[in-house]
Amino acid sequence: MTNNNIFSGFPLDPADHFRGDEIWLSERLGLESSRFLLYRRGRPLMDVSEGMQPAYRSAAEVRQITGGNWQELDWVFIGLDGDEAIFAVALTQKMDLRGYEKFIDLRSIALQVTADGFSPMPSLLGRGKMLLEWNGRRHFCSCCGHETLIERGGYVRKCMNETCGAEHFPRTDPVVIMLVTQGDKCLLGRGVGWPEGNYSALAGFMEPGETIEEATRREVLEEAGIKVGDVTYMKSQPWPFPSTLMIGVKAQALTTDITLDDKELADARWFDKAALQESFETGGDSSFRIPPKIAIARYLLEEWLQET
Ligand SMILES: [Zn+2]
Repeated sequence: MTNNNIFSGFPLDPADHFRGDEIWLSERLGLESSRFLLYRRGRPLMDVSEGMQPAYRSAAEVRQITGGNWQELDWVFIGLDGDEAIFAVALTQKMDLRGYEKFIDLRSIALQVTADGFSPMPSLLGRGKMLLEWNGRRHFCSCCGHETLIERGGYVRKCMNETCGAEHFPRTDPVVIMLVTQGDKCLLGRGVGWPEGNYSALAGFMEPGETIEEATRREVLEEAGIKVGDVTYMKSQPWPFPSTLMIGVKAQALTTDITLDDKELADARWFDKAALQESFETGGDSSFRIPPKIAIARYLLEEWLQET
């Protein structure tokens, strides 16, 4: 398993020092060396003629498609690739796609481009998606309802009501995802509505005021009725659906009797290492499938299986 999980490893210079420089940004929005990632409903435009690559457009092409009124568009400055500025733009307009271009769901892209190893592309595309969607949801101030405008290259939305003037910042919602273990068994659950046989680590949104450890203990007790002792941080993963940070932990169970919260889980069970190992080798069957490679739960399981 690589150290870099999917949606990590942002490949650009985020160039925070340029975000507040409106002159620099407006110049780069017009420069022919700048490159634009286009999105429609959260899906990036990809060139599938050879493998899978972002179908970057030039400033002139973006002006032609959108009219180039940057105040009315959702756009963000993603970062610098050398000297070249990379932007992301959300399209509502129709555009002519070249024969080999498509707007593709980010999960499909991530699975495809990481099939043979790590790729930083999902991180780049995920950041564009998260920031554009956040901007799209914040056209109006949540304090006073007035219109907001983009600032700092899409990392701030400022309320245009002079008596309010609130600044809004992009949010990331932390989720704890925990591999609960006891001896050579681990607890996996199947969410309500999930396909038969799909099991994963339990997970839940952190609540305001909680530590990671407290959130882990609360979630496991709520969902499966299991008491948890030690909690150990393992790894995190940005998850751009819509804008979450998955915090992967290992949690030591103090009890084993499962009491299911049937609003959250259709099933939860203890799996032993031998059964899991077999599923990793065979890919599983209809009664039990391991989490997909894209999921941090898979990493947590792999790490635990390697422990002696
Ligand atoms: Zn306001």
